[in-house]
Amino acid sequence: MLIFRKPLEGVERPQMPADVVIVGGGPAGMACALRLAQLIDAHNAAYPDSQLSKENIYVLEKAREVGQHCLSGALLDPRSMNELLPGFEKEAPLDAKVTKEAVYFFTEKSKFKFPITPPFLRDHGNYVISLNRFVKWMGSKVEETGITIFTGFAGSELLFDGDRVTGVRTDDKGVDKEGHQKSNFEPGYDLQAKVVILAEGPRGSLTKQLITKFDLAKNANPQTYGVGVKELWEVPAGRIAAGEVIYTLGWPLTTKEYGGAWIYGSKDNVVSLGFVTGLDYADPRLDPQRVLQEFKKHPFVAKLLEGGKMIRYGAKSMPYGGWWAIPPVAGNGWMILGDSAGFLNSARLKGIHLAIKSGMLAAETAFEALTKDDSSAATLGAFQKKVESSWIKEELWKVRNLHQGFEHGIYAGMFHTGLQMITGGRGLRNRYPAKAGYERMRKLADLPADGGPEAHLLGPAKGDGKLTFDKLTDLYHSGTKHEEDQPAHLVIHDTNICNTRCVKEFGSPCQNFCPANVYEMVEDASQPNGKRISLNPSNCVHCKTCDIADPYQIITWVPPEGGGGPNYDGM
Ligand code: SF4
Repeated sequence: MLIFRKPLEGVERPQMPADVVIVGGGPAGMACALRLAQLIDAHNAAYPDSQLSKENIYVLEKAREVGQHCLSGALLDPRSMNELLPGFEKEAPLDAKVTKEAVYFFTEKSKFKFPITPPFLRDHGNYVISLNRFVKWMGSKVEETGITIFTGFAGSELLFDGDRVTGVRTDDKGVDKEGHQKSNFEPGYDLQAKVVILAEGPRGSLTKQLITKFDLAKNANPQTYGVGVKELWEVPAGRIAAGEVIYTLGWPLTTKEYGGAWIYGSKDNVVSLGFVTGLDYADPRLDPQRVLQEFKKHPFVAKLLEGGKMIRYGAKSMPYGGWWAIPPVAGNGWMILGDSAGFLNSARLKGIHLAIKSGMLAAETAFEALTKDDSSAATLGAFQKKVESSWIKEELWKVRNLHQGFEHGIYAGMFHTGLQMITGGRGLRNRYPAKAGYERMRKLADLPADGGPEAHLLGPAKGDGKLTFDKLTDLYHSGTKHEEDQPAHLVIHDTNICNTRCVKEFGSPCQNFCPANVYEMVEDASQPNGKRISLNPSNCVHCKTCDIADPYQIITWVPPEGGGGPNYDGM
């Protein structure tokens, strides 16, 4: 029997009052904390008789160290950082300024360069960064302000009083596999907060609780996602300039799947490359980690990497749904930021600048709430209005129908994209509908047994150990570690479905879409199909793909004991 991770019942928990709790120490959460500190400092300087304290403002970060779970391409559009910390370039860890871009369409052996770089992929003025290092630096700026960052603490539950969010419960520590307290047991804290800000990244687990509880997504398009699988390589000098940016479309994907690749030249001959596969593909045998391996076999990429060495690996989902998929972002006691809300421009493959801007706007709203001592929906609702009158909406509005336009494959998608570009994002209608990606997955019986044109993307990559790698070799380079003796943090609500239906109908796609080999179907003669689901939760890189892509929607990702997870040093 699988035991799942959830806060233990009947445990007395320390209560801690808080003004603001920010869940998630990524770019959105850190920007929010920094802006809030700036506003409080300015207020305290202007009004010596009415001082506001920063003492009860907390950032919760589930990683052992700030930035450890942060993974992105990454290119930084500096717009929001220029607003948050003018002159930040002088001290922030920026690897290279973009000097050159190109966009290619790949066929299996060849490539065609776009004669003109589409406007949304022009990156001059942006920076190649390691998000891990950048967020670490942001974290140090937050700490300088006096705001406390609790690392190794995950938010495991939201606290409610009726329709009001009143706080966050942090994870219990020292619970064994069977759900019993170990000798080092420490109950989680109940942080009773005036304002709770969710900045958990894509498919946040508390955000999911909140959206479900209040049915927040009822008027939005279903959120759709891609999963980005990334490797960092050291290559011989001269292969790619620092600041050179390459995007590719086409092979190894066929015309039916949505996605594409990035290659960014960084300093010290380091190359960031990765492939984003839309999590709305039809064939349950498709494996996004294999997609990246096939991509590297393209002659252009293989030549770039020849003689080089893969040094890091990781994966993360990203919200693709655009403006129409964003739920309400503020309510009674709460706000949602960054990727958790869906502030990502999938046309530009960028969300960091939007995450930072949303953090700043939420901080301004939280500041108003603290000065008025009112964090009801009436006050926090200002965040919604601020987003709608900011450049976040202006940017996302122009690409509001982008991903939906690819519903019928790449050629239809290019047609719609062209039309949307000349109609300010409208295309054929103001709001294109969308379907959740998992609903597009088809049963094996409806697909060619040999995989058809997608055959090269199906099943696990074998890897040659030089250019291409199997999943476990890649995983080793993610630095992932968890406490082994703890309940599983992947909640499968009904394993019977895995063992009886999914194995037959979809061939257990969790084994394929998980980029970290967490899910396995093992032999078990007692099961009707001779197999049962088995989990290796310690491998998990926290990408959330399983929560998103499972065709029965019976997997819920919840945070493992704080401190566990990947170590995306330099990613
Ligand atoms: Fe990603 Fe889920 Fe696999 Fe963890 S178990 S690595 S969240 S797909």
